Order: sequence, then C-alpha cells, then structure tokens
Amino acid sequence: MRSTRARLGLQQLQTEHIAVILRHWLSLPLCGLTVERSTMATAPLATSDKSSLKEDLTCAICCDLFNEPVMLACMHHFCKPCISRYWRGTQGPVTCPQCRKEFSSRQFQTNYLVAAMVEKIRASTSDIYFKNLEKQLKETLESHRLRREDYINSIQRDKDKMDAIKRVGSDLQARVQGDFQALRQILHSEETRMLEQIKREQDEEVKKVQHHLEATKLAVRELEENMKTLQQASGAPENVVLTELPQLSTHVQVDIAPEFDVNAFSSRYIAPLQYITWRKMFRSLKPGPSPLTFDADTAHPSIYISRDKTVALESETMIPYMSVNRRFLQCVNVLAAQGFHSGRHYWEVEVGCKPKWDIGVAFEAVDRHSRIKLSPETGFWTLRLRNGSEYSAGTQPWTRLQLSSSPQRVGVFLDCEERRVSFYNADDMSLLYTFANGPRGKVFPFFSPCISGSRHKAQPIKLLHHPPAALSG
Ligand SMILES: [Zn+2]
Ligand SMILES: [Zn+2]
Repeated sequence: MRSTRARLGLQQLQTEHIAVILRHWLSLPLCGLTVERSTMATAPLATSDKSSLKEDLTCAICCDLFNEPVMLACMHHFCKPCISRYWRGTQGPVTCPQCRKEFSSRQFQTNYLVAAMVEKIRASTSDIYFKNLEKQLKETLESHRLRREDYINSIQRDKDKMDAIKRVGSDLQARVQGDFQALRQILHSEETRMLEQIKREQDEEVKKVQHHLEATKLAVRELEENMKTLQQASGAPENVVLTELPQLSTHVQVDIAPEFDVNAFSSRYIAPLQYITWRKMFRSLKPGPSPLTFDADTAHPSIYISRDKTVALESETMIPYMSVNRRFLQCVNVLAAQGFHSGRHYWEVEVGCKPKWDIGVAFEAVDRHSRIKLSPETGFWTLRLRNGSEYSAGTQPWTRLQLSSSPQRVGVFLDCEERRVSFYNADDMSLLYTFANGPRGKVFPFFSPCISGSRHKAQPIKLLHHPPAALSG
C-alpha cells in the first residue's frame, strides 16, 4: 500500500500539489518549541497529514525520504544518488523508473523546495524532536497541573473568605440586634413601670373615693331608716308613750370627702417624658459614657488639674507635686483614675480648639520617667493632633488621617475582649480611627494636653460627664 501510495503521490507531485503540501507543512508544529493549545488540539490530524506528506516525499527507488531530490522532465522525483545509480551502465536513452518515459539526455533539476520539505519532515520525525515534544508535553501538563492546583486552592480560599464574611456579618447583625433589644427592653421596662405606677395611684384614688361613696350611701340608708321611725312616731303620737325619742341609728356621721388633686396626679406624668426616660437610659447603656476623672498623682508637673478632677490645663510654672512614683516626669501626660482590664468602655473628652493634643489609652506599666514615642509597641494607643489640623494615629511611623472636620469632642471606645481601641468625632459619632490590635491587660485612659507654647493661650482638656448629673430614683 505504501509503495502504491508513493507511486501515485509521485505521479501527482505537480506544482499545484506542492502548494497543497506546503500548506500542510506550514500548519505543522515543526519549528517552534512552544506547543500551543490550538496545535495540541489538532495534533492527531497533523500527525496523519504528516505521514501522508512523508509518503509523498518518499523516493520510489529506495523507498526512503528523498536524499538530494531531483525532478525529471516527466515531473517525477527521485534521490539524485538513486537515479544516478539507476541510469549507471545504461547506453543511449534513459527512462523514468516510474512512468517509463524515455529521455535522450540524462537531465534532471534539483528541486530545492522539495529538498527543504524533506529536511523539515526528517527533523520532525527525529528522536530528538520527539523527545523535545515529549518533554514539552510533560512540562505543559505539569504547568497545567500546578495552575489547576493553584486555582483549586484559590477557590477554597474564596469559599473560606465568603464563609468568614458571612460569619462576621451574622455576628455583627446579632450584636446590633442584641444592643437594640437591650434598648427596647429598657424602654419597655420603663414604660411598664410607669403605667403600673399610674394604675396603682389611680386605683388608690378610686378606692378612697369608693370608700367615701359607700360610707355616704350607708349613711343615707341609716338616715332614711331613722326618718321612717321618726315619721311613724310623729304620725301617731297618741299610740306612743313619748317619754323619750325613738331609738335611732347613730352612725350617720360621714368623714369629709377625700380630696383629689388632678394637677398633682397628672403633673408627674405630663412632663418631658421622653427626655426624662432618655436620661434614665444612660444608667443602663452598655457601655454608656464613663464619667472619668484625672488621676492627679500621674500628672506631669506642668499640668494643672482642677479641683473636681475633670479639667487638665498646661501650666506655665511647674506645680510642686509631692509624690513622683506614678507621675509622668518627662512627657506632659496624665492618666485617668479609672483603669479597665475587661468589658467595653466609652468616654468623651472635650478638646475644643486646642491645636495640639494626644488622647487614648496606655498600659499601667508604661515608662513614666523617660521620653517615649507613643505607639502600641511602647504601650500607647493614641490619636493625636498637631498644628491645629494634622491628625494622626499614634502608630510608628504615624498614620496621617484626613478628617472632614475638626472634632471639638473626641470619643474613645475600648473593647478589652476584642482588643480594639476606636476614636470617634463625638460631635457626630463618625469613626476616626481604630486600632484592631489593641491592648491585652489593664489600661488607663491617657491624655496629653501638650505644651502649646507662648503664642497660644492655654486651653484645657475636659472630661465630659454626660448627662451632667444622674437622675435619682
Ligand atoms: Zn532514492
Ligand atoms: Zn516519470
């Protein structure tokens, strides 16, 4: 079959056919080292095309790929050595071994195009070529395997991330629901308590009047009885020996009617009820604003602390404090008297228009006698202002914050369980910055009124107690 195919192939190897072969050849992956996906997908077709092309380029004499292919006048191709050997010893005209056409001279043409195609076919069927191809296939397969593994891992990571997002979202929803439920519970309890109180007072008042009403009715009945007796006596005096008045009931006296003061009753409830209730709610807020005070024993000698310990003001002269153990001696700092090691806490600080301050929390054990850069690494979680408008988080280096407005009051939220320290603009409760990696252990609210210099009038830092006074009862 191969020889038949080769014979037929050689007979048809006209110029047009060469063009078809050329197109096949160009479609084969013979020269590139990179095996593209499209080439690999068509590999079986290319292989079969290649084998038919190989047959087309096979010499009918030696049945091998052309070696120095030459073309006779009849257009048939042979190896140059083969046709030379075939004609050797022949006298006179020679013939084409394939079509038997006679030629008077031994002429042939070297076909460089076919020679080049043979070289390509030879290269593409060599061991080295196949080894290279096999290596490429293995490498490509391995790279696909690795990429697939990467993608599968990435899919898993995405799934884990989605799970985590959903989990955090659910937790937050539960927390928000819990907080609102607590608020509703406070309102509900307050409402119930107040309604019950009104009902109780109302019942008492009604009872008093009811009692008077019953007593009066009884008195009326007794009086009527007496009247009847008296009428009988006076209607027929001749039948009675009137030595004395008839026997009469003596319980006709009734206490004076109880007073009901509508104003006194209603004015307790017709009041700024929502505000009163809102004020009462402060005691139940978790966390509500903590009414902090400054610990004067920690204040740097340049800080004046007010008598009620809610105002800290830089002082031009050093204040002769006695104790030094717990005092900041180098930096102009002061702590609050209240420390926290568990739970959630919130407090507010009025900074007004001060151009420079630091506010936050500090470990109890921070170095108070040296000059220290404030950062979580040294035990401080702070927010700071410099030059009146440059806000930063106290990281190392500082993290500059772009705030849309300058807070006059700053809220600090400390969550000991979640190790979180957050700062708010307490004027509108917008979040300014959060340290997600907060302190573990006992911390104290920390303040630095800073030294604003002689150019500025000293302005205080105030601890806000809000509402100003708790309601009794
Ligand atoms: Zn040959
Ligand atoms: Zn021929």
